[in-house]
Amino acid sequence: MSKPKTTITWRISATLLCYTLFTVLLLWAFQIMFLNKYYNIMQKTSIENAGGKIIASIARGSDDFESELEQICFSHGMCCLILDENEQELYSIDMMGRNCMIHSPAKYSMSGQLLKVLSGEEQEYVARLRDKHFKTEALVYAHAVTNQNGERMVVVLNAALEPLGSTSEILKSQLKIISAVLVICALLISNFAAKKLSQPIRKITEKAKRLAKGDYTADYDGGGIMETDELAETLNFSAQGLSKVEELRRELVANVSHDLKTPLTMIKAYAEMIRDLTGDDKVKRDEQLEVIVSEADRLTALVSDLIRISRDEDSERIFRSESFDIAEMISDICKRFASTNPDYKITVTGECKNAVVTADRESIAQVLYNFISNAINYTGENKSVSVLLEETDSEIKVSVKDSGKGISDEELPLIWERYYRSRNTHQRPVAGSGLGLSIVRGLLTKQNLRFGASSEQGAGSCFWFCLPKKTQ
Ligand code: ADP
Repeated sequence: MSKPKTTITWRISATLLCYTLFTVLLLWAFQIMFLNKYYNIMQKTSIENAGGKIIASIARGSDDFESELEQICFSHGMCCLILDENEQELYSIDMMGRNCMIHSPAKYSMSGQLLKVLSGEEQEYVARLRDKHFKTEALVYAHAVTNQNGERMVVVLNAALEPLGSTSEILKSQLKIISAVLVICALLISNFAAKKLSQPIRKITEKAKRLAKGDYTADYDGGGIMETDELAETLNFSAQGLSKVEELRRELVANVSHDLKTPLTMIKAYAEMIRDLTGDDKVKRDEQLEVIVSEADRLTALVSDLIRISRDEDSERIFRSESFDIAEMISDICKRFASTNPDYKITVTGECKNAVVTADRESIAQVLYNFISNAINYTGENKSVSVLLEETDSEIKVSVKDSGKGISDEELPLIWERYYRSRNTHQRPVAGSGLGLSIVRGLLTKQNLRFGASSEQGAGSCFWFCLPKKTQ
C-alpha cells in the first residue's frame, strides 16, 4: 500500500504544531494540574531538610546551637519548638505569628502524636494541619533526638502551606495567552520554513522537467540549503553529462554515416567498373576486387566496433592470465600492418632480455591493433610509425609512436571517451567510429594495467601500456 502523499509545508507545520502542543501541555500540567502536589512535596522536602540539619546540630552538640537554630528557621521560613522528655520547652522560635500551630499543640489535636514521639513509641511524625478559624494550613514535623548527654528531646517544626488558588488562576490566564502565541508562532514559522525549503525544490523540479524533455541548458540552484544544493549540483552534473552524450551521439551519427558512406560508394563504384569496363581483364579485375574486399573489411570492422560497444561485450568478457612473448606478438602484428600498408615505415625498437609477460593475450593483441592502426591513420605525411619496447625488473612498457599532428592538451583526456573523435583529425578521410580507444581503455582497466598517452602538437603522439613480466 502506498503512503499518502503530503507536502513539505504540511509536514513541517504538523511537526512544529505537535511540538508546540506538547510544550503547552507540559506547561499546563506542571503549572496548573500538579502545582499543588508539587508545592506540597517541595514543602515536605524542605521541612525534612531543616529537621535533619537541627537534629544533626543537636547530636553534634553544637556550641552555638541557638543561633544555628535561628538561622535554619529563618532560611526555611519555619517556626520551631524543641521539647524535653517532660514536654518542657527548651527552645522556641516563632517567626510566623498566627500561622504557627505548634506553639499550642492541643488546639490542633496534635499533642497525642507528639507524646508518641516523645515517649519513643514513634520516631517521626509529619502531618498537614488546618486552622479552622483562620482557614490556613500548615505542615508539622516532629522528630525525636538524643543529645550528647543522653537527654531525649523532640524537634517540632512548622511550615506554612500557602493557598495556591489565586496563583493558579493567574498562571492559567497567562498560560492561555502563551499557548495562543506559541501556536500562532509555530504556524507562522513552519509556513516560512516550509516555503524557504520547498521553493528551491519546486524550482529544481520545474527545471528537471525541462531536462527530461531534452533541454540541457537549465542551471540548477539549491537556494543555499546543503541538501538541495547537493541535488542541484548532481542535476547540473547530469545535465552536463547528458548534453555531452547528446553532442557525441550527434557527432557519432554524422561520423558513422560518413564512414559507412565512403566504403559503400567505393564498393559500388568498383563493382560497376568491373561490370561495365574491366570485363575479362583479370589483372585489373583482381585489383578492383581487392579494393572491394578491403573496403568491405573496413565496413565490417566499423560495424563490429559498434556492435561491441552497444552490447557492452567487454563488460562480460573473461580475462585469462596467459604467458606469452610480447616482442613476438608485436613483430607479427607489425608485419601484418606493413603488408597491408606498404607505403608506411613501421619499425620496432628496444631490446628485451626477457619479453615473456602475463596478461590476456587476445585483448593485448586488440590493444596493439588499435594503437598501431591509429598511429598509421594519424601519422601524417612522413608515414612512419615506431613501436618501442622498454624493460624494467617487473614490467615491459610498450609505446606506439607516430609523427603526426599530435593531440592538443585539451583533447588528450577526451580521446578515451566513447564516440570521441577529434575535430582536427576528422577533416581527413580517416575511417573510425571514435570507439577504438574507449574499447582499449576498458580492456586495460579491467586487467589493472597501466596505460596512457602523451602528445606534442606538430611532433606526434605516443600511446603506451605496461605489462607485468611472467614471474619465474
Ligand atoms: P577513431 O576510430 O576515431 O580512431 P579512437 O577511439 O581510436 O577512434 O580514437 C579517438 C580519437 O583520438 C580519434 O578520432 C583521434 O582524434 C584521436 N587519436 C587517436 N589516436 C591518435 C593518434 N595516434 N594521433 C592523433 N590523434 C589520435
